[in-house]
Amino acid sequence: MDSVRTCIGCRSRASRSSLLRIVARGSELVVDESATLPGRGAWLHPRIECYRKAVQRRAFGRALQVTDTLDTTALETAVLENRLNGTVASNE
Ligand SMILES: [Zn+2]
Repeated sequence: MDSVRTCIGCRSRASRSSLLRIVARGSELVVDESATLPGRGAWLHPRIECYRKAVQRRAFGRALQVTDTLDTTALETAVLENRLNGTVASNE
């Protein structure tokens, strides 16, 4: 059974296999590809729209309980590459 998580961007619920798990490594946001890194994780659709919404409402810091300014560069690149590679499943 695939468990359900909430995307911190669009706030809709989806199976965890269709979402990216994001963790904070220091002050940098990284994609937890295997979804096994310890600590708090945030879940996000691999879509730039969801990423932007999450950034706008500062959802990463809240979800990950990080108060420092987070470096989202690596995550943004990962989301964009994911999209460009055509690996994004249609969730709608
Ligand atoms: Zn989403």
